[in-house]
Amino acid sequence: MSAEYPALKRMSKILLIEDEATVRDTLALNLRNDNYEVIVASDGAEGLRLAREQSPDLIILDLMLPELDGLSLCRMLRRDSNVPIIMLTARSTEMDRINGLETGADDYVVKPFSLGELLARVRALLRRAKANNRAVATKLSSGELTLDLIARRAYRNQSELKLTHREFDLLAELMRNQGAVLSRDLLLNRVWGYDYVGDSHTVDVHIRWLREKIEEDPSAPKRITTVRGVGYRFEN
Ligand code: CA
Repeated sequence: MSAEYPALKRMSKILLIEDEATVRDTLALNLRNDNYEVIVASDGAEGLRLAREQSPDLIILDLMLPELDGLSLCRMLRRDSNVPIIMLTARSTEMDRINGLETGADDYVVKPFSLGELLARVRALLRRAKANNRAVATKLSSGELTLDLIARRAYRNQSELKLTHREFDLLAELMRNQGAVLSRDLLLNRVWGYDYVGDSHTVDVHIRWLREKIEEDPSAPKRITTVRGVGYRFEN
């Protein structure tokens, strides 16, 4: 027994998102034996819901999932969370593919993997997360604007703004990068996701809608400014 105070120790909570029942059950059993609290999801949509409701300390995410694939899910989670994510892939060819993408995952494990290897990676990531004290941002604010990232609500001078899901994500992305110019392509990629096939006009339209809601004078925007030929910037 170590000299740590049991009352101060909390079991780390792991969310396991995997559609193959045998893999899921085996992993969950072994993680529980290793003293983790485990919650499971069998498809991407359920995984996203649980990730948001349960605030896990770590997520093990299978790449190929029904409803919402692992890559899209990872991207969505990364919009408002720094939770450590380990991605499971079925083949090394998939590994090659995701290596070329900026997925936001912290680590990858190729199936079939040894339990010992996965558990070692889980421990390492949790240790690192604790050391970094990766606090998840729950609020973004600038001047009269405040975004509550957990409740997904936006306020301007205390009164709530009616933003669509996309407008909220777009504003959050801009506010996170306050003072920096974000290109239309980058915004398309980060807010709409990899597999979104659209043109950059989509971004312009959403920026216009957003300005109607957050600017004093939408025709002379002061919060979201246009940087000609490049993109948009959220002003400090
Ligand atoms: Ca799968």
